[in-house]
Amino acid sequence: MASVQAASVDKGKENDAKEENAPVVSGGKETTPPCKKQRAREAAARGSDKSSEKAQLAGHLKGLPAQVAEDLGIGIEIPWFSMEDIDVGRRLGGGKFGSVYVARCRRSGFCFALKILNKAQLIKHRVEHQLRREIEIQSHCRHVNILRLYSFFHDEKRVYLMLELAPGGELFGLLQNRGTFSEARSAWYFKQLVEAFQYCHGKNIIHRDIKPENILIGLKDTLKIADFGWAVHAPTSRRETFCGTLDYLPPEIVASKSYGKHVDLWGLGILLYEFLVGKPPFEAPDQPRTCRKITSGVPSFPPHITREAKDLISRLLHKDPKHRMTLDQILLHPWMVENCGGDNANILHRKYGGMM
Ligand code: ATP
Ligand code: MG
Repeated sequence: MASVQAASVDKGKENDAKEENAPVVSGGKETTPPCKKQRAREAAARGSDKSSEKAQLAGHLKGLPAQVAEDLGIGIEIPWFSMEDIDVGRRLGGGKFGSVYVARCRRSGFCFALKILNKAQLIKHRVEHQLRREIEIQSHCRHVNILRLYSFFHDEKRVYLMLELAPGGELFGLLQNRGTFSEARSAWYFKQLVEAFQYCHGKNIIHRDIKPENILIGLKDTLKIADFGWAVHAPTSRRETFCGTLDYLPPEIVASKSYGKHVDLWGLGILLYEFLVGKPPFEAPDQPRTCRKITSGVPSFPPHITREAKDLISRLLHKDPKHRMTLDQILLHPWMVENCGGDNANILHRKYGGMM
């Protein structure tokens, strides 16, 4: 298992971005996850036909030799698991390369989500590199609004990820059911996500694929950023890889320019727009038109969106990445302060959950 080992032997160096940057760059091409317009359909079909996505990075999980936890750099903190230590319960959902189940550790009774990935599928679609990166980055993140990856193990046929349980499922489902979120709810959710991004960017991690499908609803309705398959460490260098979901791609990536952490600020702007309007701002019938709208279009707002919300979104969707509002500035923006400041925080916490 040279591959997974290489990804994971970080031995506690949680923020050693330099080391982690190189292999990511050398990984070469990456493709784009599915267009936003297909998302609802895909959500419905989840588990049945997701095999053509995220498919290109070279590498093989096949023939991975058995390993001990120490080899993987996780032995000191976390005990090594196998399926014999775990009771598997209800299926929570299906992903591109496997399924997610409720699971419980037999020794401790601790409950978690077990994501079981099929090695043959990972090999076939050449996403081993992405899985490595996901494990490496997510296992080192410790923030209340980031889904924990407790540990992982593998056998001949599968890779098993032990994840924090998020009983509410994807935020995408809630947004689909409700159509849109109120400004108060949106602001409360947005605050949690901005704080998670402050943590990520503080560790030089760019997520690159923020969207409602990649946000889970955890215990006490706390939002959890999940799915770090497109995340990278970005210490000083700027990246030129084309990644992310089309509707959420910023102009600098569409134009194949180099980019940095500002891509997540754009993604947050698109996300907030989608919370309030129910669809992303640059949706179009086909990819070329979506790309044109991203690079030169101005988002149009329905009349019910307040002036302050429009102002915040517009400042995040600035075409020039350097001019986008920063994460710190978002939290101080009048729309955020008005909705989440003072006593409102307690009211929103009671109504919409989250941690205080
Ligand atoms: P990929 O990770 O390849 O993008 P995906 O996001 O489509 O795939 P998974 O992340 O494997 O799919 O998750 C499939 C479904 O399982 C999700 O839609 C979600 O409903 C559920 N799920 C995933 N992780 C958890 C978790 N930690 N807690 C609860 N449910 C989860
Ligand atoms: Mg996912």
